[in-house]
Amino acid sequence: MGRLRRRPYAKGRGGKTIEGNPSFMRRAIALATGNVLSRGGGPFGAVVVRDGKIIATGTNLVTSTNDPTAHAEVVAIRAACRALGDFQLTGCVVYCSCEPCPMCLAALYWSRCDAIFYGNSAADASDAGFDDAVLYEEVGRALDQRRIPMTRLLADEAKESFDAWRTLPDRIDY
Ligand SMILES: [Zn+2]
Repeated sequence: MGRLRRRPYAKGRGGKTIEGNPSFMRRAIALATGNVLSRGGGPFGAVVVRDGKIIATGTNLVTSTNDPTAHAEVVAIRAACRALGDFQLTGCVVYCSCEPCPMCLAALYWSRCDAIFYGNSAADASDAGFDDAVLYEEVGRALDQRRIPMTRLLADEAKESFDAWRTLPDRIDY
C-alpha cells in the first residue's frame, strides 16, 4: 500500500493555495540535467505552467549565447510571454530546478506569476559553485558599500523621462 504523502503547497495571489505538481518539477530538473549534457550552459531549468499545461520552458544559456542574463527562469519567462502575447504571467506557476537568484526572483515578480516552486536550494547551488548569496547580500547593502561603484549623475536632467511618462495619455501601465 502506498502511504499518504504530504504534498507541496504555495500561497498564490490573494492567499489562494496552489498545489505543486511533481511532474512539472521533474521536467524542470530533466531540462537542467539535459542542459549540462548538451553543453547549453549551467545546470538550471524552468517550466511555466498555465491551466495545468506547460506553455514554455527555459534552460540556462549564458555560455552558449554569450548572454549573462540568459538564466533558465528569464529564458522561460520570455518564451511564456511570447507564447501568450502578454507582458505578464498572471495565472501562471513557474517551476525552477533551483531556487531563483536575485535577478530571476525579481524577473518572476515583474512577471506577476502566481506561484514559484523550486527544487535545489540556494545552498545547494552554492555547493555546486553558484554563489547567489553574494548577490542577495549586495541588495541589502548601502550603495557606497557595494562591490560595483554606483554613482548618481545628472539627476535633474534624468527627470524628463518620468515627466514624459506621467503625461503620456495612452501609456500602458505594468
Ligand atoms: Zn537567475
